Amino acid sequence: MGTQEQSPLDVESLRADFPILEREVADGVPLVYFDNAATTQTPTRVVESITDYYYEYNSNVHRGIHQLSQEASIAYEEAHDRIAEFVGASGEREEIVFTKNTTESFNLVAYAWGLNELGEGDTVVLTEMEHHASLVTWQQIAKKTGASVEYIPIEDDGTLDMDAAGDLIDDDTAMVSVVHASNVLGTINPVSELADMAHERDALIFVDGAQAVPNRPVDVEAIDADFYAFSGHKMAGPTGIGALYGKQHLLEAMDPYLYGGEMIKKVTYEDATWNDLPWKFEAGTPSISEGIAFAEAADYVDEIGLERINAHEDHVTEYAYDELSKLDDVEIYGPPADRRGGLVAFNVEGIHAHDLSSILNDYGVAVRAGDHCTQPLHDTLGVPASIRASFYLYNTRDEVDTLIEGVEGAIDIFA
Ligand code: PLP
Repeated sequence: MGTQEQSPLDVESLRADFPILEREVADGVPLVYFDNAATTQTPTRVVESITDYYYEYNSNVHRGIHQLSQEASIAYEEAHDRIAEFVGASGEREEIVFTKNTTESFNLVAYAWGLNELGEGDTVVLTEMEHHASLVTWQQIAKKTGASVEYIPIEDDGTLDMDAAGDLIDDDTAMVSVVHASNVLGTINPVSELADMAHERDALIFVDGAQAVPNRPVDVEAIDADFYAFSGHKMAGPTGIGALYGKQHLLEAMDPYLYGGEMIKKVTYEDATWNDLPWKFEAGTPSISEGIAFAEAADYVDEIGLERINAHEDHVTEYAYDELSKLDDVEIYGPPADRRGGLVAFNVEGIHAHDLSSILNDYGVAVRAGDHCTQPLHDTLGVPASIRASFYLYNTRDEVDTLIEGVEGAIDIFA
C-alpha cells in the first residue's frame, strides 16, 4: 500500500462536474475512464464557457469595433493573461502564444527558432523518453539544418542518467529539450537542474509540460525554462488549444512561423511588419472559444488546488501500482510508486497490449494500448506496445479494483 492513504479531494462531489462519468459503455457496465494522459474529461463549467461564447458573443477577435467583437476580444486576450498566471509567467500575455496543442508548440519553436539558429556542429539534446511531438520535430529540423540530435539515456528504474546528461550537454549544445513528466514511465524529470546545465553552456531549454501542468503546480520562471509547452485537453479543457510559454526576449527575436492575417502590423505590396507578441505567432482566426475555455479550465483546476490534485493522483496511482505488482506476469515500466506521476504503463506476459485493452473495455475500463507516441522508448524497453492506465482528479481506488478485475480476467482467458 502506498503512502497516500487518504485522498485530499472530495471525489464524489467533483465527479458530479463531469456528466460523462455517469455513462455506461454497455448495458450495466459503467465507464472507468483511465485514458487521461491522452485526454482528460471536461467539466460542465468549461463546456458552458464554450456554449456561452456561441450563444452570447460569438464573433471574430482583434478586428471588430462592434460590441460582440469587443467582448470576444477581451475574453480571448485575457485568457492569455490567465494562462500566463497559471504557469507563473510574469510577462503575461506577451509570453503566452496559443497554439493548437503541445505538438504545434514544438513545431513553432523548431521552425521559428531552430531553422534560423541551428547549424552544423550544433547538438539538440533530448532524452530517450521524449514524446514524438518533440523527438520527430527536432529530428527533422536537425536534418534540415545539419545539427545532430543526442539522447540522454534512462537508467533501469526509468529515471534519467544525469551523469550522461552532464557529458552530453556541452559547448556544442544549442537546445536541451526534455519532457517534464513522462507519458509512459511516469518519471518526473529534474527540469530545473537540466535548465541550469543547459544555461551553463549557453544553451536553451524547452520543457514539454503536457503531462505535468494538468496535475502539479508549475512555475516556468522557477524552472527557468526558455520554452514550456502544454495542451488544454489534458487539463480539463477542450481540444484544439494549447500554449507555448517563451521568454519574451526570445519570442521577440524569433520570426513568425505562420503568415497571414492578425499576425501583421503593416503590409505593403512589397513587405510586411509583424504584430506585437503574442499575436505575431497567432496567424489567422484563432480557436476563440477554446482559448476562453482553456482559461476556464485553469480556473477550475486551480480552485480545486494543484497540490491536492497531485496528492490525489498519488493516492490512486500508488494503489494501482501496488495492486498490479501483486499479479504474476505483470511488468510495470518506470520508477517506483512513490516517485512517479499519475499513470502506470505495463504489460502482462503472453497477452498483447491490444488484446488486453479490448478485454478491459468489456469491463468498462478505458486504457490506452500501443506505443503512446514513444516508439524509440518502447524499443529501449524491448516491447512493441504497452497498456497505460492514467488517472485524474475524478478517479478512485474502487475504479482501480475494476481494472485489476479486468486484468485478472484476461490472465484467466489466456492461461
Ligand atoms: N508530450 C507529451 C509528454 C504528451 O503526453 C503528449 C500527448 O500525448 C504530447 C506531448 C502531445 O500533446 P498533443 O497531442 O496535445 O499535441
